[in-house]
Amino acid sequence: MNTNREEVVVHWFRHGLRLHDNPSLIDGLSECDRFYPVFIFDGEVAGTKTAGYNRFRFLLECLQDLDKNLKAAGTRLYCFQGQPTDILERLIEEWGVTKVTFEADPEPIWQERDRLVRELLDKKNVQCVEKVSHTLWDPYEIIENNGGSPPLTFSLFNLVTSTIGPPPRPVEDPDFTDISLPVSQNHDKQFGIPTLEDLNVRPECEEQNKRLVEWLGGESKALELLAIRMKHEEKAYENGYVMPNQYHPDLLSPPLSLSAHLRFGCLSVRKFYWSIHDKFEEQNTRSTALHFKVKPSMGAPVSLSAQLMWREYFYTMAINNINYDKMETNPICLNIPWYDNPDHEEKWTQGETGYPWIDAIMKQLRYEGWVHHVARHAVSCFLTRGDLWLNWEVGLKVFYKYLLDADWSVCAGNWMWVSSSAFEKVLQCPNCFCPVRYGKRMDPSGEYVRRYLPVLKDMPLRYLFEPWKAPLPVQQKAKCIVGVDYPKPMVDHQKASKECIQNMKAVKDALMGREIPHCAPSEEIEARRFSWLPDHTPSGGHCTANFLCDGLKDMN
Ligand code: FAD
Ligand code: MG
Repeated sequence: MNTNREEVVVHWFRHGLRLHDNPSLIDGLSECDRFYPVFIFDGEVAGTKTAGYNRFRFLLECLQDLDKNLKAAGTRLYCFQGQPTDILERLIEEWGVTKVTFEADPEPIWQERDRLVRELLDKKNVQCVEKVSHTLWDPYEIIENNGGSPPLTFSLFNLVTSTIGPPPRPVEDPDFTDISLPVSQNHDKQFGIPTLEDLNVRPECEEQNKRLVEWLGGESKALELLAIRMKHEEKAYENGYVMPNQYHPDLLSPPLSLSAHLRFGCLSVRKFYWSIHDKFEEQNTRSTALHFKVKPSMGAPVSLSAQLMWREYFYTMAINNINYDKMETNPICLNIPWYDNPDHEEKWTQGETGYPWIDAIMKQLRYEGWVHHVARHAVSCFLTRGDLWLNWEVGLKVFYKYLLDADWSVCAGNWMWVSSSAFEKVLQCPNCFCPVRYGKRMDPSGEYVRRYLPVLKDMPLRYLFEPWKAPLPVQQKAKCIVGVDYPKPMVDHQKASKECIQNMKAVKDALMGREIPHCAPSEEIEARRFSWLPDHTPSGGHCTANFLCDGLKDMN
């Protein structure tokens, strides 16, 4: 440390809205005399450009929690509105800042902002420290280990990360002792967190304020949820399986998801990863003594956190591709001649397709901002290669707005995957992805559909997923006339899915003989797991995943 000058450090929060496992924050505090934690609303930070009401509220909750935890440590969060270079330039003058620290934001959409800030700091002779902790590994290291380009398939990705070795363990908690933490009397007035009203962000519908399922942003809530989640994981190990959220999709209980907290970085992904792996190790040691069903041979450690690998994979694939969220200009995305049909787009977006399973999901998405992976799969498949044959970019925009966990690269990556536009060859199975059968399998009691579509609450289960088949007296008794109170199906799934399969075949035929490395065939098992499909038909036969399959017939 230069003993002649006072070291004044700004830690600039963007994502990474936490105190735990925050290596750039730790660096900032390491040789610091005076310290300021800062957040800047620039109209884009942390996805605010595309965020709807729920995600904005979630972000403000994250900031309020961060401020509370910083207060307990003796300081406060300093909020500003404006361009980061302008604000930081001012702070360098006013506070005499000598060093700025921040967590690396790996997505290419943030690169220009950070380049300009680095340039400014360099010009002003202010030290800049940026550290990776939003992902398990440094995505550039993965690319380097793959010979300079991103690994194009998920299995190759796993191979490359396994050669790098396990991700770093979380760093220690920050220590603010002996550091000057100035806070002015009227901090709230000058630097307080704006409200949703201040930012002119308002709910679109009253359901957005009802909070049927309460998602609360912030590090404190994230750590609380992690503890609950670990109990759930432990129970699963005891019963002989891993990845419980995948094996038993539960659409009704309070969800155990941490995706929104991971997205804003109020939970460290490395903490999540190591909690799961350490718990498994601990359980394995105990299981030998207690004869639990989990055996050391069961569930290779990589499958314990395979979902986190998908997150990592999509981030890595996006890192050098500014057009990752687009079709035409995106080199890894197939240019598929999707239909253009604004009326269909609108019906899907509003949850007025006439398929209750699809509509319930779209309502939950808009009202609450979080929907289960199987539900995301159902609606994205329906919009693209399953039924409507519309461009995935349409769906991406809607997800960016409403999902609490919407991440620029993770969301686009999943959309490309589901729509067969990149990454893997997906299954062509209109029976499994049928908007009636898939719904019946995932919501056998119908409670989920009734929760989000109260208009169908009295429709007998037999017709709940296809109310147009209910005889008129049944519709009358249920006080729901199809075509009046609830829409008729916008397309006939049998016809629409046949057409989609033909369209997809034409796309593939046109590509015949041309190398498309980014659409390398995946293992069928992997595609099944990704979409929660059974490995076998209910009658025990192996699923053929084609149009003639009678796989889920007995569900009708
Ligand atoms: P778990 O099964 O508990 O997984 C743990 C964590 O792993 C998740 O919290 C998430 O961070 C990560 N993860 C799990 N599945 C995936 C996946 N398929 N791809 C990438 N990461 C994954 N997830 C997002 O976090 N942000 C998005 O914007 C997003 N958009 C999606 C869009 C579509 C069309 C689809 C089909 C899926 C999308 N997902 C997205 C992936 C997935 O649906 C959610 O991550 C998952 O539902 C979160 O639930 P969970 O926390 O219980 O998951
Ligand atoms: Mg393209």
